[in-house]
Amino acid sequence: MAARIIDGKAFAEGLRGRVADHVARLAADHGLVPGLAVVLVGEDPASEVYVRNKGRQTREAGMLSVEHKLPADTSEAALLALIAELNADARIHGILVQLPLPGHIRSDLVIEAIDPAKDVDGFTIANVGRLATGQKAMVPCTPLGCLLMLRAELGTLSGRDAVVVGRSNIVGKPMAQLLLGESCTVTVAHSRTRDLAGVVGRADIVVAAVGRPQMIPGGWIKPGATVIDVGINRIPAPEKGAGKTRLVGDVDFASAVEVAGAITPVPGGVGPMTIACLLANTVTACCRANGLPEPEGLSA
Ligand code: NDP
Repeated sequence: MAARIIDGKAFAEGLRGRVADHVARLAADHGLVPGLAVVLVGEDPASEVYVRNKGRQTREAGMLSVEHKLPADTSEAALLALIAELNADARIHGILVQLPLPGHIRSDLVIEAIDPAKDVDGFTIANVGRLATGQKAMVPCTPLGCLLMLRAELGTLSGRDAVVVGRSNIVGKPMAQLLLGESCTVTVAHSRTRDLAGVVGRADIVVAAVGRPQMIPGGWIKPGATVIDVGINRIPAPEKGAGKTRLVGDVDFASAVEVAGAITPVPGGVGPMTIACLLANTVTACCRANGLPEPEGLSA
């Protein structure tokens, strides 16, 4: 029987709706407007599109959106001075520095300069440490989106066998921490893993975050497992015409959909959740900064 398709677009829409409702309540009850500042250095076209989308969705949710577009030759010192300004700005509850930064700027230094309470990407060492020690953290947006979808799909995750394929700092490792926090039995696989097929085949939950098109075939998946495909890979699509391409995930969707219990498609799965979770994190940061209870269902 074919798997249920987890509709990330619809899920993200629902999440943005809950964010907007909470933003309206914060304004009505407390006169508060959550504010998100996005900093873009240079002119990477993909980053520009992403930043534009973030700005639009932030405003649509009723929040304050501040964009700082800096030239590619901005000095590290000037960027750090801007971060310090945003840290001190009471209107701003979330700060996101769009990566990658130009080569002459040390990304780790810039990320660490962000006040952890405003670190809505969850990349500072303070937030990574909080997540790893089970304390309240700002959680990276993509794994947070995966967790919210898994909870909605499966209810309690406790006791389930989960495998995360990929161990990056932005997806794989925080995803593994979140699943551990849900009391899953977690295996983290990577490029040196022996018998990846066997490891994947034991899992009730598979999160694929590798960046290799369709590398996980349906034959590896345990029947009925829930599959979250984070990968976004562009491959040639000659069937659409000469020079055309299409997006695929790290999982071979056509074969996996026949075996899994539920699966996210690419595109339209995890991708749309990432910006929605950024908005959710900004609302969470605003509530924490003002000593208010956190909204249900927006955080880990
Ligand atoms: P990275 O390149 O940082 O990490 C990839 C991971 O995959 C590494 O840990 C690597 O292992 C592992 N890996 C590579 N080859 C293999 C293999 N053959 N078998 C098992 N593991 C392997 O990628 P990211 O985590 O940043 O991103 C992963 C994917 O997710 C990409 O396609 C990216 O585009 C997508 N993505 C999507 C987002 C969204 O919003 N939907 C957001 C962020 C990322 P090792 O550590 O040993 O090298």
